[in-house]
Amino acid sequence: MYFVSKRLEISFAHRLSLDYESKCTRLHGHNAIVTVFCCSRELDRNGMVTDFSSISQIVKDSLDHNFANDAMEFNPTAENLARWICGQVPNCYKVMFQESEGNVAVYVKAGFEDAAKIL
Ligand SMILES: [Zn+2]
Repeated sequence: MYFVSKRLEISFAHRLSLDYESKCTRLHGHNAIVTVFCCSRELDRNGMVTDFSSISQIVKDSLDHNFANDAMEFNPTAENLARWICGQVPNCYKVMFQESEGNVAVYVKAGFEDAAKIL
């Protein structure tokens, strides 16, 4: 099994839809650190699991310097963004979405819990 991870920073704005009073319902921005984990039993014809630059491009094209509420059709919490990124990147099984210092959401694709213990 091969594993790769790509760590990148994105700047985005969002406004959360919550059923309780919170400052997070107001428009605000983050410089988030996103770490995308991919794995594969076989390498592709280029000898890769997933190209590092394509991971970066997929995440940045959709979220970087963007208003997540317009870019996404769901409430753009860190958890939901982590799950969405995982679904976009080929061979992705896990995403760590550090929205701000100390605040991290992790999504692991169902069936990949054991792989997530390795990397
Ligand atoms: Zn926020």
